[in-house]
Formats: sequence, structure tokens, C-alpha cells
Amino acid sequence: MRILIIGAGISGLAAALALARKGHEVRVAERADGLHEVGAGLQLGPNAMRALGELGVAEAVAAAGQAPQAITLRDGRSARDILKIPLGDAALRRWGARYVAVHRADLVAILHAALEALQPGALVTGCAIERIDTDRAEAMSADGQTLRADLIIGADGIRSQVRAQLFGADAARFTGHVAWRALVAVAKDDPAAPPAGVGAWLGPRRHAVTYRVRPGLVNFVGVIEQADWREEGWNLPGDPDRLRAAFAGWGAITRLLARVDQPLRWGLHDRKPMRAWHRGRAVLIGDACHPMLPFLAQGAAMGIEDAVTLAELLPMADDASALETALGRFFAVRQPRTARVQAGAHANGVDFHEGNPLATLAMRLPLGRAASARPDAVMARWDWLYGGGPVPPPRG
Ligand SMILES: Cc1cc2nc3c(=O)[nH]c(=O)nc-3n(C[C@H](O)[C@H](O)[C@H](O)COP(=O)(O)OP(=O)(O)OC[C@H]3O[C@@H](n4cnc5c(N)ncnc54)[C@H](O)[C@@H]3O)c2cc1C
Repeated sequence: MRILIIGAGISGLAAALALARKGHEVRVAERADGLHEVGAGLQLGPNAMRALGELGVAEAVAAAGQAPQAITLRDGRSARDILKIPLGDAALRRWGARYVAVHRADLVAILHAALEALQPGALVTGCAIERIDTDRAEAMSADGQTLRADLIIGADGIRSQVRAQLFGADAARFTGHVAWRALVAVAKDDPAAPPAGVGAWLGPRRHAVTYRVRPGLVNFVGVIEQADWREEGWNLPGDPDRLRAAFAGWGAITRLLARVDQPLRWGLHDRKPMRAWHRGRAVLIGDACHPMLPFLAQGAAMGIEDAVTLAELLPMADDASALETALGRFFAVRQPRTARVQAGAHANGVDFHEGNPLATLAMRLPLGRAASARPDAVMARWDWLYGGGPVPPPRG
């Protein structure tokens, strides 16, 4: 089939690669004038790494990134461990792939290079799609071009234009969380470097996440609750002193933030799960149909899983009835899983920011005890997520 993908984020590029590998003819229309991923990190759970394996790029991604040995939830102020989820070889044994943290730009470059190798010139940048015709699978760009295909995939993110065209415009909801992000260069034995692995540092109405994306580069995300968000734009510069004040007295985080001079702010929005993702010859994937809070670190992973599943289900030739069946099946397979991840991410936001000391104790003590007594039991809680998705772990 001839497939037009709107948006060259991680979901769009993964879909283009998955479909090109099946032998479809793909074109990706991206409104930006190049692939400018934000300077930030991305965690890829074993489910995402197995899906990237299906796309033939898992090794390259693992080589570009870091494989943390554990996710450790800590109390932000005291730095006391609350819960440890073993990763590294334990993740490989249990879920068939390692957990990898990577620079977003590295992942995007790897996906793009793999696509270029299969279908050179498939990516068209500086091409903003304004309108689509879902019956004829035609897209009109801002500069007056008409792009024709057999299927249109809207991978155009949380503010999806394609979604608005298919199901009507409605604004994404501000969730009351603002993410502050920074990449911090650290030297070996640097006192500002947080402990190795993924660290989630928890406190009332705020939390921070730290992990390395390259040997000397730490990704910092600090999430702070805020009553409203009226600013236009996504990656806005933030005041580093305000960020430092929010995490004052948090030992390791305070030391790291002393090095940050230009953090970026990002108001976190989401949407309720949708009742349908396709109409006629157009379908949505990624944040366009299931945006979520980042508190399970799975938004991009879900987009990559969508890509693999869609490529698996689509018919090889253009056949209207087979296409309709495949798109219905795609929704039936993917919607329950993405809705569960959306809900899980939301619940983590509540747990991470618990300000009531009694409730905090009630939540954290059982978690911590279970963790130290039986790490397998802790890992088992994540089987549905890290062991699920379109590419199951190998048996045994
Ligand atoms: C703080 C934070 C931390 C996160 N951490 C993780 C993590 O660790 N792991 C993880 O898996 N996920 C994480 N996520 C979520 C992840 O970033 C997103 O889910 C993912 O990037 C969504 O990718 P996408 O391709 O669906 O959408 P986007 O990245 O939004 O891409 C959409 C693309 O479409 C283009 N576009 C938009 N409109 C048009 C148009 N009209 N015409 C042409 N092109 C258009 C845009 O320019 C853009 O390139 C995090 C998110 C945040 C905010």
C-alpha cells in the first residue's frame, strides 16, 4: 500500500520503518524543517526494546544508550531507598530485553537512518498538513500540495490536527503538573552526579527523575504541581533558581541542580481514552490518540508498539474491506493496553506526590518490605507492562 504518515516523531518514524520493512511504500510528512528532537532523555522499557528489535534497531539503540541496573524509588529529602526494581540482566532474563535509557536525538537518528536505508527520501520535512480527506486518503499541505495515499496515519502528537479532523477539536487537559528538564554533563566521580541507574526521588507535590543517557550525561526531569498553565508552547525556558528552590534540601538533586543554568518547562497535558482511532482511510497512533503522563515512562514505548502492531495487521494490498477490518482490529488490540498504561501513569502521579505522612508510610513500608524480601515479586508487578505488547518475550 501507499501510506502517508503525518508527523516524524518517534511514533511516526517507527511506523514508517515498520511499514517499509513489510514492503509498503511510505512517505512521512513533518512540519518542522528537520528532525529536531528536544535535548532530553528517554527510558525504553523491555517492551519497547523488544519492539525495536522487531524493527531491526534494538542493538544500535542499546549501543547508543545506557542500561541501568535498577529503578530505585527514594525519598527525595533523606535519599532513603523506598523500592528497587531490578533491571539489567534480571530484566533480560525475565522480560527478554534490557531496559535502556537513551538520548532522544540518538533514537530519532537511528530510526531515520534505518528508514533511509530502506526507502531513501521517504521523509519530507517542512511539510505541514492542514487538512485531510479520510475517504480518499488525501492530505493538503500548508503550501498547497495534495499528497495522495491508500492510508493516512496521524502520528502528529498530543495536539493532533488529524485527530481534530477525524473526531472534532477538543483541547488537551492540563494535568496540574509541569515537567522541568535538563541534561547535565558530569565527570567520573563527580560529586554532582546522582547514583547510577534510574532514580525516582519522591516528595510532596513534586518528584525528580535522574538517569544517564550517555556515560557523562545525566538526564534530569523534575515534576512540580502547579495550579494552571496558560502559556503557549511546550519547551519554554524556565528560571533555574525557581527550580532549585523547589528541590531545596534534596541532597543529590540539589547538588545536580547547582549545575543547571537553562532548564526547559513543559506543561503536562493528557486526554481521556478515546472510543475510536480511525475513520475511513485514516488512523491515529502514538500521542495523537493516547497521550499520557510520563510517570511510567511509556509514551514513546506505546507509539513504538503501535507501529509494530499496525504493520503486522495491515493488508499488503489496497483492499477497502480488509483495511477496515485491520484498523478495527488495531484499535481492539491496542486500546485496552494503552488505556491501562494511561491509568497507571496517572496513578503513579498521585502516589509519587503523596504529601500526607501517614498515607506515605502506609504506601511505602509494604512496598519496601516486599522489595527487600522478594525482588521477583516486585518484578512480577510489571510483567503486564514490560512483558506485554506486540512482541512477547522469548519462552523460557
Ligand atoms: C517529561 C517527559 C518525559 C517523558 N519520558 C518518557 C520516557 O522516558 N519513555 C517514554 O517512552 N516516553 C516518555 N515520554 C513520552 C514521549 O515523549 C511521548 O509519548 C512521545 O514522544 C510521543 O511521540 P509521538 O511521535 O507520538 O508524538 P510527537 O513526539 O509529539 O511527534 C509529533 C510530530 O508530528 C509533527 N506534526 C504535528 N503536527 C503536524 C502537521 N500538521 N503536519 C506535519 N507534521 C506535524 C510534530 O512536529 C512532531 O514532529 C515523556 C514525555 C515527557 C513530557
